[in-house]
Amino acid sequence: MSGTIAHHPNDPLPKVWDEDSRIGDMLKGKRGLVVGVANADSIAFGCATKLRAFGADIALTYLNDKSKSYVAPLAQEIEADLLLPLDVSQPGQIKAVFDRIAQEWGSLDFVIHSIAFAPREDLHGRIIDCSREGFLQAMQISCHSFLEMAHHAEPLMRPGGALISMSYHGADKVVNHYNMMGPVKAALESSVRYLALELGERGIRVFAVSPGPMRTRAASGIGHFDEILDMAVTRSPGRRLVDISEVGRVVAFLVGGAASGMTGDVIYVDAGLHIMA
Ligand code: NAD
Repeated sequence: MSGTIAHHPNDPLPKVWDEDSRIGDMLKGKRGLVVGVANADSIAFGCATKLRAFGADIALTYLNDKSKSYVAPLAQEIEADLLLPLDVSQPGQIKAVFDRIAQEWGSLDFVIHSIAFAPREDLHGRIIDCSREGFLQAMQISCHSFLEMAHHAEPLMRPGGALISMSYHGADKVVNHYNMMGPVKAALESSVRYLALELGERGIRVFAVSPGPMRTRAASGIGHFDEILDMAVTRSPGRRLVDISEVGRVVAFLVGGAASGMTGDVIYVDAGLHIMA
């Protein structure tokens, strides 16, 4: 063991991780909603691409008119069935999305919730100083919206369905600079466990997927993010960052029948970073 870093964040990932040629029709006949595509770097786009490549039909959403111009070509690229507006902070919009899905599809097999928001000023300060409004806004958009989506998805979902939200290791351990998003993601992970109990009898499974740090629009709002990336490369057993395709493949596994015996878990996709002391 040389102790050298095998992969730096600025290097392209080695080809060995690009296994698209193996993709088949494991998810054929399944239909799902993927929320959180802002651009081609979004974790949600990594998920939507892999779910589609495994044969699933996809509905995507966009935040507002400005983001529609970025999301629409991506929806076309993966041949999404539906592209709908969704700002979860606006009352009635989550329900409107599920009403439309009920109308178009009549049923639903999975929901991928890959959204988060915190006001910059609150996110960059100490949590002891964060505002009530900022904390509640972060909690509503990043956590309660998942409960609301589960509420509307439940009557549409068939046994074997899955609800998945994106979390981060800062939920469980103190990660420098993650600040107020730590408690928000902790609430999200706890919500996953309670939802798993409440929906278990209906055969609906619920997961949090916890990716390692990667450069996305949302991540650029976190202070000193380069330090978080460097730390992941230096300290993870894999000595590298993960990419959105790797998250997408794990999500495809969880949605598929192979993970039928699992629910309520936080699944890390971080090249092992979370196991380190
Ligand atoms: P991203 O910026 O590509 O995605 C964030 C998404 O949240 C965007 O599509 C944005 O439109 C959406 N969003 C924000 N406010 C919204 C609202 N009111 N209504 C609807 N959508 C809204 O960044 P990302 O890194 O792909 O983030 C996706 C998820 O992954 C987040 O939950 C984030 O916390 C989590 N995550 C990111 C990392 C990372 O390092 N990038 C690591 C672990 C977890």
